Amino acid sequence: MSQQYETVVGLEIHVQLNTASKAFCRDRNHFGDEPNTNVSAISLALPGTLPMINRSQVISAIKLGVALDCEIDKSSSFDRKNYCYPDLPKGYQITQDAKPICIGGKFTFKTGETYKTINLHHIHMEEDAGKSIHDIHDDKTCLDYNRAGTPLLEVVTEPEFRSGQEVSDFINAFQILIRYLEISDANMEEGSLRCDCNVSVRSKGELKLGTRAEIKNVNSKKFAKQAIEFEAKRQWTILQKGGKVKQETRLFNTANGETYAMRKKEDALDYRYFPDPDLQTIILADQFIENIKLSIDHLPWEANSMLVNDYKVAKKTAETLSADKTLVQLFIYLNIKVDDATLVSNFIANQYISIDKTIQQDKLESTLNSFAEMLTLIKNKELSASTAYKQLIDFILKNPEANIRKEAENKQILINANDDNFEEACKEILNQFPDKVKAYKAGKKGLMGFFMGQFMKNGPKGINPKDVQECFEKLLTL
Ligand code: ADP
Ligand code: MG
Repeated sequence: MSQQYETVVGLEIHVQLNTASKAFCRDRNHFGDEPNTNVSAISLALPGTLPMINRSQVISAIKLGVALDCEIDKSSSFDRKNYCYPDLPKGYQITQDAKPICIGGKFTFKTGETYKTINLHHIHMEEDAGKSIHDIHDDKTCLDYNRAGTPLLEVVTEPEFRSGQEVSDFINAFQILIRYLEISDANMEEGSLRCDCNVSVRSKGELKLGTRAEIKNVNSKKFAKQAIEFEAKRQWTILQKGGKVKQETRLFNTANGETYAMRKKEDALDYRYFPDPDLQTIILADQFIENIKLSIDHLPWEANSMLVNDYKVAKKTAETLSADKTLVQLFIYLNIKVDDATLVSNFIANQYISIDKTIQQDKLESTLNSFAEMLTLIKNKELSASTAYKQLIDFILKNPEANIRKEAENKQILINANDDNFEEACKEILNQFPDKVKAYKAGKKGLMGFFMGQFMKNGPKGINPKDVQECFEKLLTL
């Protein structure tokens, strides 16, 4: 009988920062520019050039550190990690080895229906390498040094993940946090967020960690999950046969869902780390750190609890909204005008999310104000929500400046407060279909849809469907 095994994963997450310039010089830091156009002598570390610390990188590191409950080291420093590779023009990478800027910390995220907290080892600042491009020529590799020197934060977790699913859920929540802090777009496809997954296995109940393999540069949540699941099975199969797992660096083949060996894992010694003699120790004043703390408006979990506790938004809806800071801001903006948190949050979660790409950005404010007007009419029961969404959303997107009440009048969808004779119409429909009424009363509750359909076709227009349904329900219990 085969024993149960446990998967153990620790992550090294690279966040590419959205600072205006590179980590140690003034070259533009921008994805997608013409290759090799943002490459000065300093990016190439030509003799005689000197690097300079980028204040924005330090601020981003502290922001993330504060959000993740890390201890901020008030005197951290840079080291050189030496290795030879075509995309590393300096011959070394500037990183923080001995004294990283953030120590410890933790992050809590939702996985399945529960919450899990992962402890962090540290966060350090470093610079990215250039990019080797292998798929332009069959027999040549092209090099783009635009990325060389891009500022990165590397977050190193403790080996506390127990499945690929947990890792995927963690990355998702982490991405949301990074976007709240506005320090990176955290886009995995473009490489602004990359993950190395360290994977080992052990028998269930065993405390000692197994030998790990490191899967480099996984660039999607789905691939992280697949790669970890494959790798754990592979290692366990080796152990079951009495073999040993090799400590090595592996890559994930997205085409067949398997990992394969890239190289034997280097030890720290191979990199000959030493303090970078060109850069000073980063001394941080308490007030500097305090100001950064104050500059963070709210974090995802704070936004979520504000929506649930202060505004009484439904839990699921609050989760959807708080996954994106701009949706939370939109909620606050609309709710000041409409003053109905349930209506506004449902509108955002169920309607707005699928149309926000089609809003004319130069007309954003008038578009939002028109939405607020529409929602106010719904709130005051002058419009039914479903009719309004069907008939007015597209109109508003195309005519953000139009008068919404007028348009609703033109479309004859305003509910006339005096028009309470719709009960007669309901009665008439029930009289027309006595068999269906009998079946409904015998338990075929699905027939409500049929009665509602009849009303929509033949009854008076512009009545709130909820009221119609209530009316039918009342009549059918008589
Ligand atoms: P490096 O990879 O640079 O040698 P570390 O040895 O500190 O650095 O480990 C880096 C990552 O590997 C961390 O995320 C850590 O949690 C994870 N890790 C270390 N040992 C194991 C293990 N046995 N199984 C799974 N993950 C591990
Ligand atoms: Mg590593």
